[in-house]
Amino acid sequence: MPSPMPARTGNAPAPYPHLFAPLDLGFTTIRNRVLMGSMHTGLEDRARDFPKLAAYFAERAEGGVGLIVTGGFAPNIEGWLKPFASRLGWPWEARRHQQVTDAVHAHGARICLQLLHAGRYAFHPLLVAPSRLKAPINPFTPRELSARGVERTIAAFANAARLAREGGYDGVEVMGSEGYLINQFLSARTNRRNDRWGGSPENRMRFAVEIVRRIREACGPDFIIMYRLSMLELVPDGLAWDEIVAQAKAIEAAGATIINTGIGWHESRVPTIATPVPRAAFAEVTARLRPHVSLPLVATNRINMPDVAERILADGKADMVSMARPLLADPHWVRKAAAGRPEAINTCIACNQACLDHVFNNTRASCLVNPRACHETELVYAPTAAPKRIAVVGAGPAGLACATVAAERGHRVTLFEASDAIGGQFNLAARIPGKEEFRETLRWFRHRIEETGVELRLSTTPEPDTLRGYDEIVLATGVLPRKVDFPGHDHPKVVGYLDVLAGRVVPGRRVAIVGAGGIGFDVAAFLVHDGPSPSLDPALWMREWGVDPAFAAPGGLVPPDPLPPAREVWLLQRSPGRPGARLGRTTGWIHRATLKHKRVHMHGGVEYLGVGDDGFRVRIEGEVRLLPVDHVVVCAGQEPDRRLFDALQGLGSPVHLVGGADVAAELDAKRAIAQASRLAARL
Ligand code: FAD
Ligand code: NAP
Ligand code: SF4
Repeated sequence: MPSPMPARTGNAPAPYPHLFAPLDLGFTTIRNRVLMGSMHTGLEDRARDFPKLAAYFAERAEGGVGLIVTGGFAPNIEGWLKPFASRLGWPWEARRHQQVTDAVHAHGARICLQLLHAGRYAFHPLLVAPSRLKAPINPFTPRELSARGVERTIAAFANAARLAREGGYDGVEVMGSEGYLINQFLSARTNRRNDRWGGSPENRMRFAVEIVRRIREACGPDFIIMYRLSMLELVPDGLAWDEIVAQAKAIEAAGATIINTGIGWHESRVPTIATPVPRAAFAEVTARLRPHVSLPLVATNRINMPDVAERILADGKADMVSMARPLLADPHWVRKAAAGRPEAINTCIACNQACLDHVFNNTRASCLVNPRACHETELVYAPTAAPKRIAVVGAGPAGLACATVAAERGHRVTLFEASDAIGGQFNLAARIPGKEEFRETLRWFRHRIEETGVELRLSTTPEPDTLRGYDEIVLATGVLPRKVDFPGHDHPKVVGYLDVLAGRVVPGRRVAIVGAGGIGFDVAAFLVHDGPSPSLDPALWMREWGVDPAFAAPGGLVPPDPLPPAREVWLLQRSPGRPGARLGRTTGWIHRATLKHKRVHMHGGVEYLGVGDDGFRVRIEGEVRLLPVDHVVVCAGQEPDRRLFDALQGLGSPVHLVGGADVAAELDAKRAIAQASRLAARL
């Protein structure tokens, strides 16, 4: 069912005509098809942070987004995500929202408040659920809601929606998916009740339908009610397709305006938004529902560039596209797409490192590729009144960020890079299957170098004398791999990760990896992989993770069927415990599961006894073993590369260290880019 082509204005061909067609909801019109999806930032929880929240949303509204949804607000205390988390229950709480809604409306966008009751996912002891069943990802066991408690909760939703209207919102989004309370009522796996709120599918969906109906009653006809509907549960015994269709119809009949797509529960063991998930992997699921309802549908998950969004709409799979993280990464995404300048977009690489990982660690969200996200009032790239000559040495993420921010502010910047390309280690990261998105960051930096007028000198290792005369010198020379000293470390079988990832060494069929940090995991993924990357091939990816969008089984799950590994790999670390425990909060499990699918042997508490012609002798849990490997790849961390630093001390100009050249321990691109951008904002 392709969408009709929207009319074009003037003579210029519209670059993304479906994306920029207004959406008429009858009582209001949304200026385009871009929905900024709900994402908790950590700025919602305290009144004192509301000015920052308003600035964050204002920048996205000014950037052209059509409709914004806030992070989740609980309708009552039981529904808090964590103690004292965001909530909307009283008139004085509604009043503070006016600064947010005014800021958004001033730029012509619309904004809805998300109502989210965490149910058994609530991380506090007051939690409630349809039944007394603990979630596998939460230490707290919920109390079962009484029938009166159910009624009170529905009333709390309606009250919060009414208060949202008073606070200036154009509508609400009712969070009915991702395994939160409403979803818990819908699913037989979490709802074991035998009153009118449990049992048959009709009874289980009554809670959701009543909430929508009562919100419509409380807020009137000219108020957006978006309902986030769990369309592919990705949990055992999840909803079957006919239950999902019946729910969608009932929600439409109850008065919803728009249905948004929810994919997976938080307890699902299938990744749904991280980097390895193919772009727009789940748009088919939304498309499948479209013939069954007549209200607008929103497609979600891993939509990050305008061509992807436009194709979904042009193919008639959905009426709007939702993006949350891509608008953290680039607040002006929409405006750049409208101008036909996709190359200018700072693309979300779906790493989760600064957004979701922060939220799960109870710190304010930001963005790896845009450290200004959620810090709009604090990290300002103001034009300089006193332009300087600045030399930046090293064009990895740190050097690139420093050079381009300084040049944007008006400084004259020369960027020296020893190799023949920008990007530093990010070039290696982009070679890992599942990290193809990292190339987008390098594309963006190339664009920024041109746009800001940075003078780039590739294949240049400046001598100290070359750097004489600059007002400021920034050393962003990165890291050197750490040397290891176990017996046999100089055997020809022992190679470094740089040689392997750069293709200078092609390891044999059996490989041991020394060091199970982020790079050890990535090198293992690189070595077991052969053929096309599943991240670029949705059908292959679904097969690897056991996703069945045709819904042969409820929940859309089938047993995973990964391709066999290209090599037998042992991933080793000396410290005791499970390798990978220090990987990203929301992505570590994906890295571990990927390697498990490929039958990688992962061991902690390993002693390296020696490498010889017959293999790698190690002691694992007290037992000496000979691993019959062809190669041992060392991924044992890094040391700062400061070889230039001392030589520059006599030049008389301030010398700054950023990124890996400053501190190599626990370095990642998030820290490198943020530190370098903050320095450039001060120079
Ligand atoms: P580098 O990236 O090391 O860049 C330093 C640059 O300086 C290089 O281009 C080098 O050629 C140049 N240089 C050095 N000396 C000189 C000189 N004398 N003159 C001129 N130029 C010089 N981080 C994440 O956050 N998330 C990830 O998922 C992730 N995955 C990774 C996967 C792999 C396989 C690898 C190798 C790294 C990964 N990283 C990841 C780490 C991330 O790439 C680094 O933290 C980041 O690149 C550090 O940036 P930097 O600018 O400090 O140093
Ligand atoms: P790392 O995380 O510090 O891991 C180094 C590994 O080497 C550890 O497993 C360590 O474990 C081992 N090791 C340290 N010294 C050793 C020695 N002398 N001999 C033998 N083994 C030694 O470093 P990395 O893996 O190189 O990663 C660098 C940075 O890049 C990380 O901080 C990470 O944040 C970032 N990165 C992130 C991602 C991501 O997906 N977010 C991916 C790749 C890289 P033991 O001491 O227990 O042996
Ligand atoms: Fe996207 Fe990573 Fe930024 Fe999050 S931190 S918005 S996932 S690029």
